[in-house]
Amino acid sequence: MGMRTVVEKQANEKRTGDMSGTPDLTREPPREEPARQYYFIEKCRQYISEESDRLGHPLTAAVITFGCQMNARDSEKLSGILAQAGYVLTDSEEADFVIYNTCTVRDNANQRVYGRLGFVNSMKKKNPHKRVALCGCMMQEPSVIEKIKTSYRFVDLIFGTHNLFKFAELLCTMYEGDRMVIDIWKDTDQIVEALPATRKYPFKSGINIMFGCDNFCSYCIVPYVRGRERSRRPEDILGEIRSLAAQGVVEVMLLGQNVNSYGRNLERPMSFARLLREVEQIDGIERIRFMTSHPKDLSDELIAVMASSDKICRHLHLPLQSGSTRILQAMNRRYTKEQYLALAEKIRSRIPDISLTTDIIVGFPGETMADVEETIDVVKRVKFDNAFTFLYSRRTGTPAAAMENQVPRKEAQAGFDRLLSCVQETAREQVARLSGQTQDALVEEINPHDPSLLTGRLSNNTIVHFPGDPALIGRIVPVALLENHGFYFIGRMAK
Ligand code: SF4
Repeated sequence: MGMRTVVEKQANEKRTGDMSGTPDLTREPPREEPARQYYFIEKCRQYISEESDRLGHPLTAAVITFGCQMNARDSEKLSGILAQAGYVLTDSEEADFVIYNTCTVRDNANQRVYGRLGFVNSMKKKNPHKRVALCGCMMQEPSVIEKIKTSYRFVDLIFGTHNLFKFAELLCTMYEGDRMVIDIWKDTDQIVEALPATRKYPFKSGINIMFGCDNFCSYCIVPYVRGRERSRRPEDILGEIRSLAAQGVVEVMLLGQNVNSYGRNLERPMSFARLLREVEQIDGIERIRFMTSHPKDLSDELIAVMASSDKICRHLHLPLQSGSTRILQAMNRRYTKEQYLALAEKIRSRIPDISLTTDIIVGFPGETMADVEETIDVVKRVKFDNAFTFLYSRRTGTPAAAMENQVPRKEAQAGFDRLLSCVQETAREQVARLSGQTQDALVEEINPHDPSLLTGRLSNNTIVHFPGDPALIGRIVPVALLENHGFYFIGRMAK
């Protein structure tokens, strides 16, 4: 990406969390957060400005994101700090400073990172001033750190998921020395508020409401790399959303690994449904989304709040993972096939226009074709609007990886193919039921493949493309859904 686009990109980004007043660098750094990090941001500004004078150009930085929405939100926080420290943000790995925000959910995610490191090393050989950092879930694994220390010695900075808030401080340490800086925490109960963040869209934003996970599904590495569940205080979440609304944000996505257990460990416990009611009160916020929901914790209170709300979107992502009770038990999901079906039916009967989407894993250890048939039975009965299907990937460090009855790849693939065609059929039917309706769409962007069209998102998360004025981006407009193309619509703005 060229510099022109970078400038446009920055113009589109809004920052939150600015603290007024410039820290006094002649004093010791403050002990309390976030003041301490603002002190180091200021210190970084000096280092960056000196280096940019030496090199004769403004320093650029790129944050490359590998993972989920939580990972993407973390990248916005890193970008916010980099921008405030004086870097010009870009998407290109040609940047003076490249930071890879890694994911470790599957083993091949790790391989992709090693691939990028090989590539960036060749660039660094030509530009020795170039700096490279690594962070995110993969860095929480000791074997990864060992490998980087021995095989990728050119990396300048490594940190993990628990101390991301310390990024400015670590950047300073990197500038002050000439050795690889490594700072990985095993866990934390700390939540640091009010640090800067950028955002890709001026009109919508993700908001972390909690961190970590306590569920220990047997295939998942998250509880080991993101730590125990911690909820942000409601007043901090609501304050952040109010400030986003004041900046023109109309849609918020509340993020957590398991939002349905939000607030249980707060000093004054509060349910997720209560939090949603409070978010609803905020003027200017017109749409509320959230992710992810664990079926075992989804309460009647939440269904009631969703059913009565004009702002909570008509979309619920409810990971099924398997339709076989035997496999669900081995996965440690703590619900049965029947319980999932009953829950889905309850939701559909109380919120008839809701769109239900899900995640499914095929090929979990011990899974037979009969188990896959159970999953297909659930797909047919629930009629998901979309399902993200994954081939089980053995994740080192999880209990499932140590199970002896791993399924041969060929068998797993056969089950996967059967499931996928069933999922596609029900999804197509579900999307088709909207044909001919007029629905509100939040206009998100100019269609990247056809600039004569705008791309909007319906409350139930379906995409619609329609002709319109780019000035509408960020607004909610009524759109007639004319042509169904399987997973999206071509529409026309309604009068
Ligand atoms: S709920 Fe299960 S799958 Fe989701 S992050 Fe927690 S352990 Fe992983």
